[in-house]
Amino acid sequence: MENLLEYNERGIYCPRADVYIDPWRPVSKALVTHGHSDHARRGHESYLCSDLAKPVLQHRLGAKMKISSIPYGESLSINGVNFSFHPAGHVIGSAQIRVEHRGEVWVASGDYKLQDDGISSPFEPVKCHCFITESTFGLPIYQWPQQAEVLEQIHDWWRANQAAGKLSIICCYSLGKAQRLVHNLDDHIGPIYDFGPISKTNAVIRQQGVALKETKQLPADLEETSNRGIVISTSAILKSTWLHKLGPFAVASASGWNMTRKPRWGGATSKGFILSDHADWNALNCAVRETGAERVLVTHGFSASYSRWLREQGLDARILETQYGEEGAGELLPDQSSVGPDQAKGI
Ligand SMILES: [Zn+2]
Repeated sequence: MENLLEYNERGIYCPRADVYIDPWRPVSKALVTHGHSDHARRGHESYLCSDLAKPVLQHRLGAKMKISSIPYGESLSINGVNFSFHPAGHVIGSAQIRVEHRGEVWVASGDYKLQDDGISSPFEPVKCHCFITESTFGLPIYQWPQQAEVLEQIHDWWRANQAAGKLSIICCYSLGKAQRLVHNLDDHIGPIYDFGPISKTNAVIRQQGVALKETKQLPADLEETSNRGIVISTSAILKSTWLHKLGPFAVASASGWNMTRKPRWGGATSKGFILSDHADWNALNCAVRETGAERVLVTHGFSASYSRWLREQGLDARILETQYGEEGAGELLPDQSSVGPDQAKGI
């Protein structure tokens, strides 16, 4: 079987088309699955992404960057190789990239999840001969609760904070989790505040036509009322001097890592809601099965154990070394003691 995609020091490469997918070193043509910084790096000459991903990409990479886009499902031929982007369900605009040449199909899935979060285009399985999958949570211990269940926990936590006169702060990534929370919080919860990079990202997403609920910006729009509201922010807010003058607050985080780590902020254990934009163990297996692929290349995460598991299931699976890490590592930094081995290595 010919290798439609290969790996080299710059990233995942398609030699026939001379393009890269989510490259980590500067290249001339980069096909990008989504806007997270470990997949959409700066410094490439040109970028191609899905239509829905483009506004955030442009915002993050700068107005001067040359970024083209195509709708989901539309095919583009480059040197006789057909490329198309298909929803990955990870964040708004995220895509799996399908690569086809003379009937041979490979899919590079970037980051993905199967749970429908209500705001990202839901994951669509794409049949292929070779599937490149992430394995961020590729251990059986990672099994996500339903989104509705987690939201109910968040609502309860907010009500308890309200009763105690505390502002509720949920720390999360600026692209993906933040919009997912804003979109899905109950209408009676509020005001919803955002801060810093999340305010900017939310504005870009509204501008592209996504009906994202109204938010107020901190610190400018803070209402001095008994209703303390809820803040969706990166952890940068905890370093703000003004925050500590606002009165009592409670901190939580929303992450899949909360399943196996005690979230700690500023030396104190805080509330951890299990909410991930990545596939859990069952979803990874379901996604792999639905592609019908006989060959699977496993990237970032628990790639050694997950590829071994797939081989035990009779698939031709191996590790594909990449340099993707947990996105937004600089945005959501719990105490270093709670960083797991894979994260620490930046896999
Ligand atoms: Zn991502």
